[in-house]
Amino acid sequence: MDLSRTALVEGLRRITGPENVITDETVLRESSIDNFRKLEHIFGVYTRPMPAAVVMAQSTAKVAEILTFADEHRVNVIPRTGATATEGGLESVVADSIVLDGSAMDQILSIDACNMQATAQCGVPLQALEDRAREQGLTTGHSPQSKPVAHMGGLVATRSIGQFSTLYGGIEDMVVGLEAVFPGGQVTRIKNVPRRAAGPDIRHVVIGNEGALCFITEVTVKLFPYFPENNTFLGWTLKDMKTGFEVLRAVMVSGYKPSVARVYDPGDAGLHFSHFAAEDDCVLLFMVEGPAGIVKATAAGIAAIVAQRPECKQVDSEYIATWFNDLCWGPEKITQEDERIRQTHNVNRTTEISAGWSCINDIYQAARARIVSEIPDITMAGGHSSHSYINGTNMYFNYFYNVVGCGPEEEVTKYYLPIIGIICEETLKRGGSIVHHHGIGKARTPWVKEEYGSSYCMLETLKHAFDPNGIMNTGTIIPR
Ligand SMILES: Cc1cc2nc3c(=O)[nH]c(=O)nc-3n(C[C@H](O)[C@H](O)[C@H](O)COP(=O)(O)OP(=O)(O)OC[C@H]3O[C@@H](n4cnc5c(N)ncnc54)[C@H](O)[C@@H]3O)c2cc1C
Repeated sequence: MDLSRTALVEGLRRITGPENVITDETVLRESSIDNFRKLEHIFGVYTRPMPAAVVMAQSTAKVAEILTFADEHRVNVIPRTGATATEGGLESVVADSIVLDGSAMDQILSIDACNMQATAQCGVPLQALEDRAREQGLTTGHSPQSKPVAHMGGLVATRSIGQFSTLYGGIEDMVVGLEAVFPGGQVTRIKNVPRRAAGPDIRHVVIGNEGALCFITEVTVKLFPYFPENNTFLGWTLKDMKTGFEVLRAVMVSGYKPSVARVYDPGDAGLHFSHFAAEDDCVLLFMVEGPAGIVKATAAGIAAIVAQRPECKQVDSEYIATWFNDLCWGPEKITQEDERIRQTHNVNRTTEISAGWSCINDIYQAARARIVSEIPDITMAGGHSSHSYINGTNMYFNYFYNVVGCGPEEEVTKYYLPIIGIICEETLKRGGSIVHHHGIGKARTPWVKEEYGSSYCMLETLKHAFDPNGIMNTGTIIPR
């Protein structure tokens, strides 16, 4: 950077107006991290370099001016919208960065019921868009657990996925078109069409870029008809994950499309289903939605597949419906969880990977066994599979540990990164992907070259082409 911190802040004030440039020290410290180092926030200890300012973007034109200014002066920019990131994508690694916050760009621009698509600015919370769609009997089909708090820009930037993915897909299946601004201020709009074969699909340069290539200002996503009255829930207990994965596979390859298809191991099931599942039970569950005829046939088809495995014992579907209605995390639940950690020093973390059907159980078993034997102070190590495909599924490792003998700022290096390391190693050695939906952020960059293999050169080329001066979210996706 060729500017002093003062000159940088002055320049930003000139561009956006002083009211949109925040330099309050508490805000800056809190903006130096995300949930990856959430203990720093919970205990008020901040170890990352402090950003120079949080800038509240007001329009695409202002985003373009800020990125032009930042590019000219080589200032690192960290795009942000909902601030629910879990992998360090919002973490500052360069002193005096700009946190470019799009949460004030919060207009729903259209709900187009004819073309079944909705257009929203980057700062629209998904919940707000979903509520508006539902007023017209429509749904986005996107329901990550962070739906009340995550915003459209971040959801696209991280390649997010929601609970109903088995029917509607991930965000990459929903985004029709978008607008984004590149370093140097180039505004790009990818138009909204049902499909095109006009060369490579350039939406995918933007979807999942994690703020390391561009700033997303607007997105258009598909809409679907909403039939909540037909929602049907099915659940079973069983004794091992291998059977659970086999049943999920059988359902997926049979052509049925439930919206939710999950199997929980006993540790993870104990957190949600202990009122009906025994301590050593896994829980297999499905939700089916859509037009009545499809729901009826799908539910019957799934029940027939599970019936071939007599070890699966059916449970009252009310249990599954009740669990389902309490899945999302709003600000209240997040604050309660922070308070629990503050009181107990017992931390809950998650890491999600994906792999083919032939090796997912081996990855789950091997990683879980190593976490339990190699990591100290573990109080629970488990997980579930929650997003399935014709050729494989994900595994969402869910684990708790007590932070013992170190300060909150050392929790990541003593516990979290070694666990991520085990999960990545066991996944990579069997050909899986180290990231299913939270993004690489900064947390998983040590494994990114191995993740990409010989295609890593394409990733590096994209970075150099779109961000030649390296000002976009340094250290995210591509190691520093
Ligand atoms: C309680 C909880 C539950 C969660 N559940 C899920 C889940 O079910 N499924 C799931 O996929 N994820 C989940 N997440 C992770 C997180 O919510 C998602 O990654 C979400 O997509 C982030 O959106 P955001 O608006 O909060 O983005 P932010 O946290 O603001 O940013 C996330 C990343 O995207 C970049 N970014 C943000 N905005 C822009 C923009 N406008 N342009 C370019 N880059 C940008 C940032 O630089 C950062 O790297 C959960 C997180 C929490 C805390």
